[in-house]
Amino acid sequence: MATWQCVKQCGACCHLDPTDRPELEEYLSPEELELYLSMVGEGGWCINYDRELRECKIYPDRPRFCRVEAEVFVEMYGIEAQDLNDFAIECCNQQIEGVYGLRSLEMIRFNQAIFEENGQVRIAHEE
Ligand code: SF4
Ligand code: SF4
Repeated sequence: MATWQCVKQCGACCHLDPTDRPELEEYLSPEELELYLSMVGEGGWCINYDRELRECKIYPDRPRFCRVEAEVFVEMYGIEAQDLNDFAIECCNQQIEGVYGLRSLEMIRFNQAIFEENGQVRIAHEE
């Protein structure tokens, strides 16, 4: 059992390059899509992402599509609350692998964090 959590100084999901996310139109409203595209900055990173500190500069006011919350995931992806944990872990795994790599420190730290509770540590996709 793994329990999803966001790890500090990752920011993989703040790499917004739309070419890596071809299905944006399927889960964003037209207004959100416009906002999303307006946030794509240099190298595909969100303009609100502080790349030095590796954190969101507008965290309390970040858009709905940046929030890992049960209500948001039902609305955007049709994912029910009981499936949120596994879905969010898979999203993070994909995003971290795409941005930093499967064997990156970010991936190791994420997996350490989500398996911390029961003392298990693994590298994603190696099982
Ligand atoms: S990819 Fe996951 S762990 Fe990394 S910043 Fe985003 S939500 Fe947090
Ligand atoms: S608004 Fe914040 S949380 Fe959302 S993608 Fe940009 S930096 Fe990341």
